[in-house]
Amino acid sequence: MGVDMCVRIQRSLTNVTEPWSPRERTIRIPATLDADRALIAVRAVLHELAVPQPQFGAVCWCGDTVEIPARVPFQRRASEVMARGA
Ligand SMILES: [Zn+2]
Repeated sequence: MGVDMCVRIQRSLTNVTEPWSPRERTIRIPATLDADRALIAVRAVLHELAVPQPQFGAVCWCGDTVEIPARVPFQRRASEVMARGA
């Protein structure tokens, strides 16, 4: 596994206790985070890894923009529909 392997973002359906997995070079974020919060979370982890972040978005240590997967669809359940109102 080379040092130039890009960071990966993974949506986790279980509790995220260790957001950063150095072995897999993967940042885990909760599946239910919306896009804004997901971006904040990813930026925070990258920042802790001493990867300078731009004003907007998130970048890998190679300089590429990090793609953050969309919120996991099946999390949209009855409770969320109810919370949003009719
Ligand atoms: Zn990269």
